[in-house]
Amino acid sequence: MKIGVLALQGDFAEHARMLASIGVEPVEVRLPVDLDGISGLCLPGGESTTMRRLIDRWDLRQPLLDFAATGAPLFGTCAGMIVLSREITGGEDPILPLLDVTVQRNAFGRQLDSFEADLTVPVLGDQPMHAVFIRAPIIDRVGPGVDVLARLDDGRVVAVRERNVVATAFHPELAGEPRFHRLIATMAAEHDDPGEGAGRRPHPTRRAGLPR
Ligand code: GLN
Repeated sequence: MKIGVLALQGDFAEHARMLASIGVEPVEVRLPVDLDGISGLCLPGGESTTMRRLIDRWDLRQPLLDFAATGAPLFGTCAGMIVLSREITGGEDPILPLLDVTVQRNAFGRQLDSFEADLTVPVLGDQPMHAVFIRAPIIDRVGPGVDVLARLDDGRVVAVRERNVVATAFHPELAGEPRFHRLIATMAAEHDDPGEGAGRRPHPTRRAGLPR
C-alpha cells in the first residue's frame, strides 16, 4: 500500500521514514498528479503559512479537498493540523477546512517554544505516548462530530479525529512513535477494501453531518 506525504515544506522526510518503517510505501506529494494511487496522506509539521502559499502555488487546494472527499485518511501533525482545521484563532483564513476544530497557532508562547510530555491516548492502547511539541498549536474548540484522542494534563486538547481526518498538535514522526501512522495505515486499508475487517459500512463522506 502507498501513503502520500505532502512534501512542500517541513518534516515530510520523517513521515516518509516512519511509513517505510511500518511497511507502507511512502509517496512524496508535490503536484495534484501525485495523489493518484495513494491510499492516505500525511501532512507534516513545519510552517503553515509557507504550506498555505505552496498549496496555492501548485494548485493543490481543490485536488486535496477532492482526495479527502473520497474518504481516504488524512493525518496532520502540528502545522499539518493547522492546514486541516476549519478555524484558526485570530482570523486567518482556513486552508483545507476538513476538521471541525479551532486551532490557535504557537499557543505555548515564547517561554515554552518546545517541550515534551507523556500522554495517554486510549484509542492507541495503554502504553503512554511520548509527545514532542515544537511551537505547537492548541485545539481551542472541538465540533460535535470530533473525537478527542488526547489531552495534556491541564485538559487542553492535543489530538483529534473526525471521520477520516486525524490530527495531532505534536510530532509522532519525530519521537519514534509509530502508533498514529499504523492507525492511518489501517484506516487506509479499510478504505481501499471496505469489505475487510469491520464489515461494510456507509462511506464516510455519506455520514457527514449526521450526529454520532
Ligand atoms: N508554528 C508552526 C505554525 O504555526 C507549526 C510548528 C510545527 O509544525 N512544529 O505553522
